[in-house]
Amino acid sequence: MDHAFHSPDTLTVPVESKKPITAYNLETNSHTFGNVKVTVTKGPMLSSQCQCSSLKTNPEEIAGGDGEQRCVFCRYEPKITLKHLPDMVFVQNRLVVAFFWGKFGIEFNAVDAVNSIRDTPTTDARVASAEVWQAARSESLKTHTTHAVQYDWTYTPHYRGTIFGQGLKVEPTDLQLDMNLLTKKDPVMFFDELQLYGDELDDNGCAELEIKIRIVESYMFILLRFYLRVDHVMVRIQDTRLFLEKDKPYMLREFSVRESSISNLPSNVSPMDASAVWQALQPQQVVVEKITFS
Ligand SMILES: [Zn+2]
Repeated sequence: MDHAFHSPDTLTVPVESKKPITAYNLETNSHTFGNVKVTVTKGPMLSSQCQCSSLKTNPEEIAGGDGEQRCVFCRYEPKITLKHLPDMVFVQNRLVVAFFWGKFGIEFNAVDAVNSIRDTPTTDARVASAEVWQAARSESLKTHTTHAVQYDWTYTPHYRGTIFGQGLKVEPTDLQLDMNLLTKKDPVMFFDELQLYGDELDDNGCAELEIKIRIVESYMFILLRFYLRVDHVMVRIQDTRLFLEKDKPYMLREFSVRESSISNLPSNVSPMDASAVWQALQPQQVVVEKITFS
C-alpha cells in the first residue's frame, strides 16, 4: 500500500458535502482548513468537437454558470496549447487551495497540466523507451510510428501546480515530509480524488494524471500522481506531494520520480498496481520546496 495514502479506497466521502451544479455539469466539493479553503471541481471530459448547438436546445444546462453561452469545447480548446492531446482531458477539473479568502494560493488544473506536456519528443531516456516501445507494438500500429515520435507520446507532465496571486514564496529546503504523521490513521475530515487526464497509449498501457486530497485534524495533504505504464517495457511515477500542517506558516512540496523497466520490477509487483510499484521502487529524484505564505 502507498504509504502516503493509507486505505484511500475504504474512505467514505460524505455525500451531503457534494453539491451538484447544473451549469456545464460541474460538481464542486469544498472544505475549510484554518485559513485555507479547498475547492474541488469536476466536469466531463473534453469533447472532440463543438457542442454549442446542444446547449442552445437545453438552456437549463447553462443556467447558473458565468453567463457564457459557449460549450466546454469552445471555452477551453483555445486555452490548450498542446497539439497532441491525451484521449481523455478533464478540462474543467481542478483543485484550488486558496489562502485568506482566495487572495492567493496554489491550484492544480487540467489545462495547465496538459500544457506542461512537451509537444516535441523528449531527448532523455524516454526516447530510448520510445524506440523499445515502438518495437514492441503490433504491425498495424507500426504504421503510425512516424507520427508517434513527433511528440511526447508518454504525456509526461512538467507540472507541480499553479501558484496564483501574490503571497506565496517558493524556495528549496532540506525539510522533509513527516511520513510518521502522514501514515497515522487519523480520522479523515475531507477526502476527494479527481483525474486531470488519461490515455491508454493505443491499448499499450496507460498515462494518467490524478489528484487525491486528504484533510485530517492536524494537516492537509495532496498527492498529484502521474503514472505511466508501457506494457512489457517500463513504468514511471512522478509524484507531487503538498503538505500543510495546521498552524504552520508554510507548506512543503515534494516532487519525486520513480522509473523502472518492467523486467527490473520485483516479480511479485504488478505493473497494473501503481501503489505497489511506488513502494517497490526507490526514487531517482526527490526535490523538496518550502512554500511560505504571509
Ligand atoms: Zn461550442
